[in-house]
Amino acid sequence: MALEEYKGVFIFAQQVDNEISNIAFELLGKGKDLAADLGTEVTAVLVGSGVKGLADQLAEYGADRVIVVDDPELKEYRTEPYTHAIASVIDKFKPDVFLIGATAIGRDLGPRVCARVHTGLTADCTSLDIGDFPLVAIPGREQKHNQLLMTRPAFGGNTIATIACPDFRPQMATVRPGVMQKKEKVAGAKAVVEEFNPGFTPNANYVEILEIVKEVSDVVDIQDAKILVSGGRGVGSAENFKLLEDLAAAIGGEVSCSRAVVDSGWKPKELQVGQTGKTVRPHVYFAIGISGAIQHVAGMEESDIIIAINKDETAPIFDVADYGVVGDLNKIVPLLTKQILAA
Ligand code: FAD
Repeated sequence: MALEEYKGVFIFAQQVDNEISNIAFELLGKGKDLAADLGTEVTAVLVGSGVKGLADQLAEYGADRVIVVDDPELKEYRTEPYTHAIASVIDKFKPDVFLIGATAIGRDLGPRVCARVHTGLTADCTSLDIGDFPLVAIPGREQKHNQLLMTRPAFGGNTIATIACPDFRPQMATVRPGVMQKKEKVAGAKAVVEEFNPGFTPNANYVEILEIVKEVSDVVDIQDAKILVSGGRGVGSAENFKLLEDLAAAIGGEVSCSRAVVDSGWKPKELQVGQTGKTVRPHVYFAIGISGAIQHVAGMEESDIIIAINKDETAPIFDVADYGVVGDLNKIVPLLTKQILAA
């Protein structure tokens, strides 16, 4: 593999029902920074049926170029034709870096594509940088420059690993939704749009979709919330979450929780913040009766302002909190709600 032939940062612009998923804009935001560090451009790969019209949105969020693979076989996501589409793009355009969102689709697609094009994949990354690998010079070992350094929790979240792929291209990663920041939208920005169709054999060995049943849920998406009032085991019971719901209602926020709460059956999994839950980045994050385990902190530490309420002054949550209140949540939370409503 001639590594120097591989150029540019590519992102998979996931769309569902011809609507671009938020993760595509987040990947463009990060891809733009990586491309700047490498002195190259960022390309979005848009795959689907009748999707060409979506290219302008990708340009407005930073894509320099959009490669459109448009074919009736790509109407709904299916592993085989999408793998064929992306692997063919990689074979033809030879990207240096290829990023995919760690969504349900991306987690299925990423490993398949890597196996097809004979490279590696670092899954579920929480941070990406350009730098030297190995990270420090080791006598007798060649240090390569301008490598993609892919960081992710490892060993059950007990350590953070930085991984590189120095000998194969593209350097591929799936990236957790909600971790990277999208750039400000530049209305009217334009990208070079290039159509590419490697050819698809209708229904050849493909899964046939008979029906799509959409899950109906009245649970809010906590990744969209500007204020989160998050409760942990210290809240004590499902019923006692009423205190947090009242606070959230008073300040226009939403309720989320730790894994201990989900495991106790007090709240649904969709509201879980953390390594095995959702990564959130609200303006204000209340951590109430949450100890601050590393797996929880991994999902909320990028919040703008963190306010912790805990009766244990040594709780690790205070290490990441901007403001901390040591005391019994059963007393403090109703008082806070009362003060806010009175203000
Ligand atoms: P606890 O650790 O039990 O803390 C409860 C806190 O409440 C304590 O600090 C206590 O002082 C305080 N408290 C009690 N009563 C009161 C009161 N009356 N007033 C004020 N404070 C009070 N966890 C997650 O949250 N999200 C994840 O995604 C996640 N993923 C994981 C993945 C793996 C592989 C593993 C191994 C673990 C994961 N965990 C995750 C679990 C994590 O390690 C912790 O067990 C969990 O976060 C603890 O939840 P908690 O803080 O609510 O409970």
